[in-house]
Amino acid sequence: MATAVAGPEIERLIQLLARLPGLGPRSARRAALFLIKKRELLMAPLTGALQTAMDKIVVCKTCGNIDTKDPCTVCTDPRRDPSILVVVADVADLWALERANAVNGRYHVLGGTLSPLDGVGPQDLSIDALVSRAHGDEVKELILALNATVDGQTTAHYITELLQNAGVKVTRLAHGVPVGGELDYLDEGTLSAAMKQRTLF
Ligand code: ZN
Repeated sequence: MATAVAGPEIERLIQLLARLPGLGPRSARRAALFLIKKRELLMAPLTGALQTAMDKIVVCKTCGNIDTKDPCTVCTDPRRDPSILVVVADVADLWALERANAVNGRYHVLGGTLSPLDGVGPQDLSIDALVSRAHGDEVKELILALNATVDGQTTAHYITELLQNAGVKVTRLAHGVPVGGELDYLDEGTLSAAMKQRTLF
């Protein structure tokens, strides 16, 4: 443990920043110092933005997306094709697909993937809700946009089996997605191509 160079308030800020993805202790210290130096220009607006987001953030009860309204912006967008339902593990994947402009459908966020080793079973994910949405009249195609990892593919197989008699076409992303690849880390071109060349599951 390094010796503290600042008071507990600043050390706490550094510790919290260090929990952000991509920031280790050293970058967190740099970020904290940057914020402190720019406290009028950056720290004050950031504090406000964090507080506003904190007050307004809701999870969409329909799809599981994170937004400031429920149903979310994606679910209420009338230009989207209601016959396409894209299944993703995490909100980050939904946002990645949207960033890539990959598909003009609606989404379903599972909240993770099945992982027997970590004790994550179907009851821990939003699978029941997915099954009932897939059985709705509107949905014609279910696109499994899951990571090309063992857990992602286990989940894809599980859902495919469950929906065998649901009368929907189940497709998955093409293999532009590298084996072991996580969607959130793919560039937009790869993601968009994988979506266009999706295959029947
Ligand atoms: Zn939604």
